[in-house]
Amino acid sequence: MSDTRHTKVLIIGSGPAGYTAGVYAARAMLEPLLVQGIEPGGQLTTTTEVENWPGDSEVQGPDLMIRMEAHARAMGCDIVGDIITSLDLSKRPFTAQSDSGTVYTADAVIMCTGARAKWLGLPTEEKFKGFGVSACATCDGFFYCGMEIAVIGGGNTAVEEALFLTNFASKVTLIHRRDELRCEKILEHRLLKNPKIETLWFHELEEVYGTDSPLGVEGIKVKHTKTGEITDLPVKGVFIAIGHAPASELVKDQLDLHSGGYVAVDAGSTRTAIPGVFAAGDLTDHTYRQAVTSAGMGCMAALDAEKFLAEQE
Ligand code: FAD
Ligand code: NAP
Repeated sequence: MSDTRHTKVLIIGSGPAGYTAGVYAARAMLEPLLVQGIEPGGQLTTTTEVENWPGDSEVQGPDLMIRMEAHARAMGCDIVGDIITSLDLSKRPFTAQSDSGTVYTADAVIMCTGARAKWLGLPTEEKFKGFGVSACATCDGFFYCGMEIAVIGGGNTAVEEALFLTNFASKVTLIHRRDELRCEKILEHRLLKNPKIETLWFHELEEVYGTDSPLGVEGIKVKHTKTGEITDLPVKGVFIAIGHAPASELVKDQLDLHSGGYVAVDAGSTRTAIPGVFAAGDLTDHTYRQAVTSAGMGCMAALDAEKFLAEQE
């Protein structure tokens, strides 16, 4: 028989938005319950140094998230290691089914499911995923000690990953489809002066190739975006860093979405189209997508939920 747990506020997601919502909702005496999901701590657990979190000129992403979790717990937020598999927002209390079998019911829901890495969608990228193709340098960089690797993308993530990977790799080639990066200037400066990094502009990944038994990458073919010329690079690892897509699967048929999947909220608030359902962080924000803005929206969502619940009483 499945266990049912009722809470006034169910927070789904454990990134900066979720934990901050947990801190504020707990301090509002709402006894929130937070479900962490498959990635406890969220995206920042996949990076190393974070240099733009106010109050810390440098902090490791995973350490920051451990501190946020401890903070939310200390304030009284109930934090559960579980994954929400479906959500029914058609009537109150809202109902969430989970991977563990527990059914969560809630008077208000704060959605903080963030975003997930995007893939290029090439068959050979899929074939070697986990065997030379990765989307997480901090998770997999260590496997490439002394080897040549490639990073695909031109944003903050790609540049940070390329820089981080120089700790292991003999050479890193950053492959970008344009000749202009969209990362912060300080990162661009570090990238361009790093002797282990080479940039390949106007190129896209065409194919990953390697051995079948054992499965492993031996190289990639990249195509010039203007001339179509194919170049072969003998790399052992490829890191795809082309951005993130919002994790809106749970609500895509129930809430209004914008800009290709981000949950729409009323301007200046975290209220969604359904009263009692709030959204915060990268799930709703296609513009800023930062830890500090996500945390700020988590705070707003808890305050919006508090106001909503007070109005119901
Ligand atoms: P996320 O951090 O994406 O967390 C989403 C959470 O939702 C996860 O805990 C996940 O487990 C949970 N979840 C998802 N689906 C479910 C489900 N079905 N059930 C339950 N839980 C679920 N920002 C900065 O400000 N500074 C940086 O230096 C920086 N570096 C970055 C480096 C990298 C490599 C990446 C990828 C991002 C970086 N960012 C940085 C961006 C920052 O990490 C994000 O803006 C921030 O983490 C978004 O927070 P969030 O709470 O909205 O969601
Ligand atoms: P992003 O900013 O969206 O950049 C994605 C990059 O991948 C772009 O350069 C894009 O090229 C390229 N790209 C996208 N699709 C592609 C495709 N199909 N083929 C080839 N290239 C493709 O994503 P991100 O770097 O993951 O950053 C996401 C958010 O997190 C941003 O808001 C970022 O600021 C934040 N973040 C912040 C930090 C930090 O503050 N230090 C660190 C990491 C991430 P084009 O440029 O041509 O579009």
